[in-house]
Amino acid sequence: MAAADTPVLLLNAPLVASRLGYPDLSGLDLLEAFAFIHPARFCVPTPRGLAEALGLPVPENDAAVPELLQRAAGALVATCGDPEWFEREGAWSAVQSLERLRWPWAQVLRPHIAKPERAERWLFAKLPEWEEAGERPAPRQVDLSAEAVQAQLARLTGEGAEQREGQRAYAGDVARIFAPRSAPGRPHLALAQAGTGIGKTLGYLAPASVWAASSGGTVWVSTFTKNLQRQLRAESRRAWPAKRADGTPPVVVRKGRENYLCLLNLEDALQGGFAGRPAILAQLVARWGAYTRDGDMIGGDLPGWLGTLFRKRGIAALTDQRGECIYAGCPHYRKCFIERAARDSAQADLVIANHALVMVNAARARDPNQRPTRLIFDEGHHVFDAADSTFAATLSGQETIELRRWIMGPEREARGRRRGLAARLADVASYDDAGAEAIAAACKAGQLLPSDGWLQRLAENAPFGPLEALLAAVRTATYARDESGQEAGYGIETEAAGLPGEVIEAAGAASEALASIRVPLIRLGGRLEAILAEPPDWLDAQGRARIEGARFALAWRIDLLAAWEALLDRLGGPADPEFVDWLAVDRSDAREFDVAIHRRWLDPMKPFARVVLEPAHGVLLTSATLTDRTEDDDRWASAIQRSGAAHVEVAPLLSAAESPFDYAARAEVLIVTDIAKGDLPALAGAYARIIEACGGGVLGLFTAIRRLRAVHGRIADRLARGGLPVYAQHVDPIDTGTLVDIFRDDPRASLIGTDALRDGVDVPGHSLRCVVMEQVPWPRPDILHKARRLAGGGSAYDDRIIRARLAQAFGRLIRSKEDSGHFIVLSPAFPSRLLSAFPKGTPVLRVTLDQALQRVRAGVGAASSGDVSVPSGEAFQP
Ligand code: SF4
Repeated sequence: MAAADTPVLLLNAPLVASRLGYPDLSGLDLLEAFAFIHPARFCVPTPRGLAEALGLPVPENDAAVPELLQRAAGALVATCGDPEWFEREGAWSAVQSLERLRWPWAQVLRPHIAKPERAERWLFAKLPEWEEAGERPAPRQVDLSAEAVQAQLARLTGEGAEQREGQRAYAGDVARIFAPRSAPGRPHLALAQAGTGIGKTLGYLAPASVWAASSGGTVWVSTFTKNLQRQLRAESRRAWPAKRADGTPPVVVRKGRENYLCLLNLEDALQGGFAGRPAILAQLVARWGAYTRDGDMIGGDLPGWLGTLFRKRGIAALTDQRGECIYAGCPHYRKCFIERAARDSAQADLVIANHALVMVNAARARDPNQRPTRLIFDEGHHVFDAADSTFAATLSGQETIELRRWIMGPEREARGRRRGLAARLADVASYDDAGAEAIAAACKAGQLLPSDGWLQRLAENAPFGPLEALLAAVRTATYARDESGQEAGYGIETEAAGLPGEVIEAAGAASEALASIRVPLIRLGGRLEAILAEPPDWLDAQGRARIEGARFALAWRIDLLAAWEALLDRLGGPADPEFVDWLAVDRSDAREFDVAIHRRWLDPMKPFARVVLEPAHGVLLTSATLTDRTEDDDRWASAIQRSGAAHVEVAPLLSAAESPFDYAARAEVLIVTDIAKGDLPALAGAYARIIEACGGGVLGLFTAIRRLRAVHGRIADRLARGGLPVYAQHVDPIDTGTLVDIFRDDPRASLIGTDALRDGVDVPGHSLRCVVMEQVPWPRPDILHKARRLAGGGSAYDDRIIRARLAQAFGRLIRSKEDSGHFIVLSPAFPSRLLSAFPKGTPVLRVTLDQALQRVRAGVGAASSGDVSVPSGEAFQP
């Protein structure tokens, strides 16, 4: 009531609202003011984080927070009057616009922001233009000398740093991938298991930087998590300066285009495309746009929490999600962040990317010369999964409607500039009759694709057009054959075998419809090529770039359509042993959101080998959990199989460096045997008691979102009252990266979440002192898993997956030599054969919850000193 009556100062309104169960809460959110005053500056969105960011005393307890909020507001207001305010430029104009939009802070801040003497340039005039650089020559073939690599490693690790034998050997092994290739299609391939703490990053940056300097080529390092990208960017500073003498960056972070701010979308949003709260977000993003390092909105220097303050998908609408870029036809083309990143990476010594981008780039790069040839996949244990999704084909309602929009533009009179193919290529159409006909034919055929409201029509059994008819048949068949017994509300699926006649028939009609779209698109592609080959007078360099862009965008839609047709044409026939096909209805919280036909490669490393390995000269896959922790001798078998080596017929170089950490003395695995599976109150109670015993610092991992939410609902309030906040993925309206920042920043905080946290969390030190898994992480027995399990050795396949998951989760615990802590699994049935997942020497005990709590309270190492007795615990030394 107080909040509704009068504006209150608060911090992170959506989070407070969700905790209070009062969704309409609004007021003067300090995070919004921070984003306005210090755009592109890092701040953990908690009282403590805000205090640190503003240089104020950190509040000692909750009671001190209201005072901090007032002081923080005072400090922010004072900054507006400070002549030294770094981010002053643009603030005066922005606050005028924000006042018109009724941003609550505008009234407060405006009187303190002096009108500048000269009119402020607006963002689009202010941003620098990128320069077109000549093509980089192919790298020289060089042999790296072992001495040069070791000397570089010594330089990077720093004078006087302790010489680590493991790291030196590792760097030497990695150097071998840079040797000249001896046969086409046969890259040097190395698999390197690098135990936590050996200094893997500098271990590969040393040979990579020596090679880049002596060959003039580009090395790509690909990661799975954004966190490692951040870390790599920081570590690369030791080997390369921020800028070369000519001002170009030698190290570039390169992401998929959907990560970057699209200036044209922003301009649209600022000029009336967004209304209400989203329009305020657009203004704050424009402030950031003037100060950002590289325009990366997801995981870059735009605060991760900014988007969640505004609920609707505002951030996504400001990126180029749907490939609607009009390239050189765009007035901001010469300043575009995406184009800049692409150009910078072509000239860079080191490109930091992610697995998905590297694979997509290899499969359909606009410029084949930009394909990476020296590649290091860090977090290499994720390459298989990344390949699995990259080379998948999914024909679904969501995907087809996206295609429809790309061809025809939005259906309703949407705000903004989103336009269809005809509008984007209007000049081609007016010049070239055949091109105009092809565009008209594609637009006509595009009407056969699903349109807005398709889900509703499916539910009412009134599909419109051949694709919707197919999806309706798929939906009916999936429900009819569902035997999962899963509670309503979760996704269901069925094999694409022995399908009813209705599905096969509908698939035939849908396939014809897709072909009728594909054929005019191919014709149009041909016309564009002809125009480029014999350019008309009006085609200037910009027009040419735009047509090249359109041709590229067309090519991958044509490939997509062909893949869908192939998928449909197979439905009635015999199964192809290379693929796993299935039908699915995707649901979340009892709401259907998509209907799909899926196709995955049984072994996705086959297309990976063809697309990524074959054209490459040197590839490294490295990780702390690359090899299998089995008791058998053959720890490498699965890593080799999952590298794609067999498909290019190379024998990979194998390298292993053990972690230098003393796990036996600094970690303890506790298997708690008295929490029965399915006993939710007991599970929640166990989590609460462990968090209390540790005093926070617990990372809780769940295999099901449902249980995570239930446990959080039962314990979070009580623990928070005791000064032990529990943050939760899938519950708190905060993105995962920010949740981890909060967890890292507050040693009394705990974090619970699902898979994404299992190996994306790097929190050394006291903030993470206990990892709790709710049960043994069995793989979900879905259709894809069952097919791979059958092909991969049955239960041994499952065991390998579980061991890998346990090893990754355990890996969160000890991140530095000083770290110590407990790894707890709440499972009465933990097969002994899986214990080899933990590093050799780590003590493993089967105990009751009470005994576990005693050990946790006493800390690691206390048991061996006799402080705690564990009467019935059974100890193992794996
Ligand atoms: S060139 Fe494309 S991505 Fe870049 S600002 Fe223009 S429309 Fe957006």
